[in-house]
Amino acid sequence: NPSLVPNNGLSSVIRKKLMGYVGFANLPNQVHRKSVRKGFQFTAMVVGESGLGKSTLINTLFNTTLYPPKEPLPPAAERPKTVAIESIGADIEENGVRLHLTVVDTPGFGDFVNNDDSWKPIVENIESRFDSYLEQENRVNRMKVVDNRVHACLYFIQPTGHSLKEIDIEFMRRLHTKVNLIPVIAKADTMTDEEIADFKERILSDIAHHNIHIFQAPTYENEDEETIAEAEEIASKIPFAVVGSDKAVVTPDGREVRGRAYPWGVVEVDNEEHCDFVKLRQMLVRTYMEELREYTNDVLYENWRTEKLMGMGVAQDSSVFKEINPAARMQEERVLHEAKLAKMEAEMKMVFQQKVQEKEAKLKQSEEELYARHKEMKDALEKQRADLEEKKKKIESGRPITPEKNTTGRRKGFLRT
Ligand code: GDP
Repeated sequence: NPSLVPNNGLSSVIRKKLMGYVGFANLPNQVHRKSVRKGFQFTAMVVGESGLGKSTLINTLFNTTLYPPKEPLPPAAERPKTVAIESIGADIEENGVRLHLTVVDTPGFGDFVNNDDSWKPIVENIESRFDSYLEQENRVNRMKVVDNRVHACLYFIQPTGHSLKEIDIEFMRRLHTKVNLIPVIAKADTMTDEEIADFKERILSDIAHHNIHIFQAPTYENEDEETIAEAEEIASKIPFAVVGSDKAVVTPDGREVRGRAYPWGVVEVDNEEHCDFVKLRQMLVRTYMEELREYTNDVLYENWRTEKLMGMGVAQDSSVFKEINPAARMQEERVLHEAKLAKMEAEMKMVFQQKVQEKEAKLKQSEEELYARHKEMKDALEKQRADLEEKKKKIESGRPITPEKNTTGRRKGFLRT
C-alpha cells in the first residue's frame, strides 16, 4: 500500500482538527506533577574570603537558617593550611514543591598568606562531581541518578572599590569553563551608589579583558517582550551588589523588613533601591534555576566529558562505545598486541638472515683461500716431481750429473756468507 510508505523517510505533518477533547493538552501538567513529586536538586557553591557574608547571604536567599552563626576565625597560625570543601544539604518546600538544596562552602579560600593555589581544590571538587555523574550515567541501571554537580558558583568580591584582585581573576579564569559563575559584590552597604557603579564598571572590564565567561540569563527567539526586558534588567545588574541579613529590623516608618540598621537609617535587603539582592534571587532561584541546571548539563558537563574522553586517546562517539564496553576495549588491545608481536618477529627474521649471509660470505672467502693454497702446494709438488723425473732419466742414460754452475763457478746453494 503506497500510502503507508513515508516520503523519503520523513513523515509529513498534517494538521488535524480534533472533534473533541482527547487529553494530551494535559501533558505539561503531567510533567509538572511528576517533577513536583520527584522534587528538584540544586547545588550552589559559595567562594570568597571569610567574613564576606557568604553564610548570611545563603540564609537570606533561601529564607532559612541553613548556616548557624559562625565562630570567629581562629588566629592565622591555628588555621588549616588548605582550602576545605564543606557541603550542607537541606530539603526545603514551598507551595508543595520540594527542593533538595546543597550549598558547598570553601572555607579558607583567600585567607592564607599565599593564596596561589586556592582555586585547585575547588576545581578538583567540581571535576570529581562530574566524574561521579559520568560514572552513574555509564551504569546499566540509570534510574536513580543523583545530580551532585555544582549548578552555580557565587563568587564574593571584597568591596574594595578598586579593581579585581589577582586571586579573583585567577579563580574565575580557572573556573569559568566548569561552572556557572555569578560574581557578587559583598557587603554592598559599605559603599555609596556612585562607588558601586564605578566598581562594577571596573570589574566588568577586568572580566572582559581576561575573556572570562560569566553566566548570562539566556533569551530565546519568539520570547515575549516582558521576558526579554526582565533578562536584560537582570543582566544590567551584574555583578550583583548584595546585602545580606537574616534578621528583621524596623524601618523609621514602622515597617518590619529584612535589613541592617544603622544610626542614619535601615538598609533593606529586599528593596531594589537599596541593593541588587532581589535581582540575584531572580537569577539564582525564581527565574533561571532551571537554566542554570540545563547549562551545567548541556554545555559545561558535556565539554568536560568530551575533553576527558579525548584525553584518554579516544574520539567522541565511537569512544563512548569503547569507554563503556569492555569487550570492545579488549578486542582493540588484542589487535594492538598482535601487531606488536608481528613486527618483532619480522625484525628478528631480518637480523637472522643478515647474520647467515655474513657467515656464508666468510666461509666462501676461506674456501677460496684454502683452494688457492692447495693449488700452490700442488703446483710446487708437481714441479718437484718433474725435476726428480728429469734426474732419474739422466741417471738411467749413464750421463754424470753435473751440478749447475752459477756465474761465479761455484755450486748453487753453497754461497759464501
Ligand atoms: P562568611 O564567613 O563569608 O560566611 O561570612 P558571614 O556570613 O559569617 O558574615 C560575617 C560577618 O559579616 C557577620 O558579622 C555578618 O553579620 C556580617 N555581614 C554579613 N553580610 C553582610 C552585609 O551584607 N553587610 C554587612 N555590612 N555585613 C554583613
